[in-house]
Amino acid sequence: MSDLDDLYQEIILDHSKRPRNFGPIEGPSSKAEGYNPLCGDRVTVQLRLENDVVKDVHFQGSGCAISMASASLMTESLKGKTKAEAEGLFQGFHELLTGEADAKPELGKLAVFSGVREYPIRVKCATLAWHTLRAALRDSEGQTRQVSTE
Ligand code: ZN
Repeated sequence: MSDLDDLYQEIILDHSKRPRNFGPIEGPSSKAEGYNPLCGDRVTVQLRLENDVVKDVHFQGSGCAISMASASLMTESLKGKTKAEAEGLFQGFHELLTGEADAKPELGKLAVFSGVREYPIRVKCATLAWHTLRAALRDSEGQTRQVSTE
């Protein structure tokens, strides 16, 4: 294993043990719940949007290390981003995980999940929070949307 792989592993473990932006936020403007039946991961994403900009985003849930670390790093990556930028990040992240493309510079720390492409079953763990985010971004009526990766 390379030093870079070691570093990536360490970041994923750190975020799975000490998730950032974990817990509810005050007055979320939208939220969604996600479930990955293949692994049993559950994630709720809450966000506060102002003029299409993500002002705050938190998550709650439980699941494997990959799903929790992914949700944690996602929340860190999204603050201050517009809806369109968030969508762009998700696309770049998805291409990275499925091996369609290498990490683009704008992905930043999300590149730590590049090793997941070796484990296709884990792709759903890593993308669960993002699918849930997408559902939350589409939630304009204040209804809680539910998504499943299947
Ligand atoms: Zn999982």
